[in-house]
Amino acid sequence: MNFIETRGNDGVKPIEVPFSEAILNPSTSFGGLYVPKSLPKLEDNFILNHINSSYKELAFDILKAFEIDIDESEINKALALYDNFDDASNPCPVVKVKDDLFVHEQYHGPTRAFKDMALQPFGSILSSIAKKRDEKYLILAATSGDTGPAALNTFKNKENIQVVCLYPDGGTSDVQKLQMVCEDGKNLKVLGIKGNFDDAQNALKKLLASKTFKEELEKDNINLSAANSVNFGRIIFQIIYHFWSYIQLLKQEEITNGEKIYLVVPSGNFGNVLGGFYALQMGVPIEKLLVASNENNILTQWINTGVYDIRGKELKLTKSPAMDILKSSNIERVIYSLYGADRTKELMEDLNNNNIFKMSENETLELQKYFSAIYSDDTFGTKTIKEFLDIGYLMDPHTATCIKAYESLREKPLKTVIYSTAEWTKFSPTVLNALNQHNEEYRDKEALEEISTKYNATLPQSIKELFNAKINHSSVIEKEDIEEEIVKFIRES
Ligand SMILES: *Cc1c(COP(=O)(O)O)cnc(C)c1O
Repeated sequence: MNFIETRGNDGVKPIEVPFSEAILNPSTSFGGLYVPKSLPKLEDNFILNHINSSYKELAFDILKAFEIDIDESEINKALALYDNFDDASNPCPVVKVKDDLFVHEQYHGPTRAFKDMALQPFGSILSSIAKKRDEKYLILAATSGDTGPAALNTFKNKENIQVVCLYPDGGTSDVQKLQMVCEDGKNLKVLGIKGNFDDAQNALKKLLASKTFKEELEKDNINLSAANSVNFGRIIFQIIYHFWSYIQLLKQEEITNGEKIYLVVPSGNFGNVLGGFYALQMGVPIEKLLVASNENNILTQWINTGVYDIRGKELKLTKSPAMDILKSSNIERVIYSLYGADRTKELMEDLNNNNIFKMSENETLELQKYFSAIYSDDTFGTKTIKEFLDIGYLMDPHTATCIKAYESLREKPLKTVIYSTAEWTKFSPTVLNALNQHNEEYRDKEALEEISTKYNATLPQSIKELFNAKINHSSVIEKEDIEEEIVKFIRES
């Protein structure tokens, strides 16, 4: 199956490209995104036929249906990385918390957040294509805290790939920072930036547009690629686990085949819930996708009004930082799917030029057939973390935003799966304050120890080890010096 562009084709780029090309070179005509030409038709009873499949078998069959141009042996090698998750047979367990409420835990991978679900196999596939083509790639990532560790972990020591990861110094949790600065691997460079996440991201964008930078890379025959969720190579792996949610409820005899369920997804760049949207269109009986946000509630506004307006809006720093966002990249793929390329180009250009786009009433109604949305603030989050611990379930602040949607958006009494995108260990000071119902300054180390002793919560080995690990990356630099540092790194390694 080939891939086409959400904003249409400029007559210079190829009209369609295979999967390997779409993921190695994700830049397109008019700044659009690659999407599959159509979604695969699955066999009748695909879900029932997979009720006893392992996660890897399910994943393999879904990837197969997309007819991607990747050798089966490479697909299997990539999927084998799920064996490193806590439970190889069930990398993302779906756990019952209340009669009609289930938590899909997406954080059982090496860096304890949902980014591993896709980045682990994606890293393996990307490196295999680069090797096969005998090309070298540089991957630049700006992170607010979860993508960085996951990208470094997956690309560590991979052939034909180098990674530079920019993080805002002081803007991540201790655990997130240690996960980056302690990572070894000759092909990795981690740079702290004096500034916030936006500064890091803007510096990266400037670099991508820099002529001198491109010339330096060309001298070394290095191509640029991207590992953020605009890359369809990540999205494809984010479709699979929504099938898994449904199959797990069937297996646990919580639903009968065909019975609809709600999915609630804590959202930022809209990549996680986009996978759910595709799963719905591929036949998973989903009543609706409920989109949870924090006080950066741009997605709530868009889904409820059809207007996406970031004029004069400033990013708020919340206790669920992975969802702190103004421009959410993957809504573009939904817009394309519902209204086509011409309209997508029009709306996205409005947003770029005027910081606002407005959909028509009919378009908005169409969107609302699939999505509902609501947001909650940090006060709701901390109250929720405490309430759920009281019934025996420990959740992180991102997961907690889902409870608002679970409580207020459901129109039918259907079973509901909420997505837990991070383990509590990544945000332990916030969680401890929620549990103790106060507001103190903690280092992660103290908070982790107190929670694990007082509430008998398990600390994974990978988190414990961080506090004694060797720091391999100690540079914190000015934005202006990024280009020079990266060029130096490329030349040295
Ligand atoms: C990345 C992330 C999200 C947001 O996911 P999107 O796919 O960008 O919507 C939510 N929670 C956590 C913990 C994350 O790391």
